[in-house]
Amino acid sequence: MAELVSIGTIAAELGLSPSYIRLLTDHGLFEAHRTAGGHRRYDLAATRQAIADCECDTGCPSCVQSPKCGSGNEPLSKDGALLLLDRLLAPRGGRGRK
Ligand SMILES: [Zn+2]
Repeated sequence: MAELVSIGTIAAELGLSPSYIRLLTDHGLFEAHRTAGGHRRYDLAATRQAIADCECDTGCPSCVQSPKCGSGNEPLSKDGALLLLDRLLAPRGGRGRK
């Protein structure tokens, strides 16, 4: 069964605010499921696999680009997204986490 993580876990792991993670989600970088209570839960392994399996080289609307991006998708990168997801999916521990 896929591990679903909360927005707080992703934000803490990346050192970013939850609101920025919400923004990235709204732009399509992360795919979130909603709990019955309306909270976002993220399947990072499935997200990474979908990006890695995309046939493009540097990123396209099917994987990391968004029609909502106000910067013409200039800052969005397939390699960057894979690096970010690899970091999130790396085994945790040794960093003082409970
Ligand atoms: Zn693509």
